[in-house]
Amino acid sequence: MFKINENYLKLPGSYLFSMIGKKVSAYKEANPDRDVISLGIGDVTLPLVPEVIKKLHGAVDEMAVKETFRGYTPDLGYQFLRDAIIENDFLPRGVQLDNDEVFISDGAKSDTGNIGDIFSVDNRIAVTDPVYPVYVDSNVMNGRGGIYLPDQGRFSDVIYMPCTAENNFVPELPKERPDIIYLCFPNNPTGTTITKDQLQVWVDYARREGSVIIFDAAYEAYITEDDVPHSIYECEGAKECAIEIRSYSKNAGFTGTRLGFTVVPKQLMCGDVHVRDLWARRHGTKFNGAPYIVQMGAMGTYTPEGKKQIREEIDYYMENARTIRQGLADAGYAVYGGVNSPYIWMKTPKDLSSWEFFDLLLNKANVVGTPGSGFGPHGEGYFRLTSFGTHENTKKAIERIIKL
Ligand code: PLP
Repeated sequence: MFKINENYLKLPGSYLFSMIGKKVSAYKEANPDRDVISLGIGDVTLPLVPEVIKKLHGAVDEMAVKETFRGYTPDLGYQFLRDAIIENDFLPRGVQLDNDEVFISDGAKSDTGNIGDIFSVDNRIAVTDPVYPVYVDSNVMNGRGGIYLPDQGRFSDVIYMPCTAENNFVPELPKERPDIIYLCFPNNPTGTTITKDQLQVWVDYARREGSVIIFDAAYEAYITEDDVPHSIYECEGAKECAIEIRSYSKNAGFTGTRLGFTVVPKQLMCGDVHVRDLWARRHGTKFNGAPYIVQMGAMGTYTPEGKKQIREEIDYYMENARTIRQGLADAGYAVYGGVNSPYIWMKTPKDLSSWEFFDLLLNKANVVGTPGSGFGPHGEGYFRLTSFGTHENTKKAIERIIKL
């Protein structure tokens, strides 16, 4: 009999969003006349901007003509896009990269989930708690992380680094040494960030300890404050210890179009092996490239007009973030995030659990959010709201919560 990868059986069911879906459906069925507003959505809602659409159309037309038709894309992605990334996303921040250190992919979920393939199963991982679940689950699939402890909501061999209001959502250096450290700033779910000086501490630690940092910068475009780094490579020595993953999903509305990239600098070495070469090997073997049409679409985010257009969309979402943050703060809630991020993380009132607050909001205010406990044990007692709705609905939802 064939054998399965039993590591998959160690994973708990993806309970969070299915539970939310069930509760909301049941409520709507019982109360069909109620207008339920979701501030739980982690997906963008505004359409692709005109410059992107123009590039997409142009590329579609090219595919219809023999002379300009394109088949398989180059392994690392088209050079025009990799050049544009370096020129627009990194050089203005003082970061020099070589073209072959940038790998185009179909998004940050794939890359954060797949990057573990190139590291030994013996490595110990560290994650912030609460955390974007992909980091832990994908490592468990690869045989890392130990077993799930349901009463604690954690895996036995993962180092969890609490991020709570008490430490300002900045993880402390772990007491036990991890091999692979996952950091995501601006953070999902807490919406909080880290300053360049604070990130430098992590870079120095990783270099000292021989650890590698996987830096997820999917929300980089939402940064508004000057001392918050857009790239980990703004920190000294980061090229020797860090991989950075980016996405076009939240900055340019590509959640359904799919595109992202990963940077693996050549200076990142394990003994005499370039980690970059392993990622190139994996990419070339298991991935046949993001579509030409989509890569061309991304070029629309780098024209002067395109930059303006995507900025307007981000500003639209960030106005919602302000509405949520300000409204709740004025009403006396403890709120975090929402300044460099589309996520607002709030403390539940009166020591309600995350799920108790979810039920209260759904039943009494007809507003849906995401219980913080779904992102890890230290998310308990917190609640995530997102800015991806319309201005009207966001305002209405906040008024309802305040009234409640
Ligand atoms: N990383 C983080 C922290 C995210 O929150 C998300 C999406 O919600 C992703 C990665 C996935 O991005 P992509 O759409 O590029 O796969």
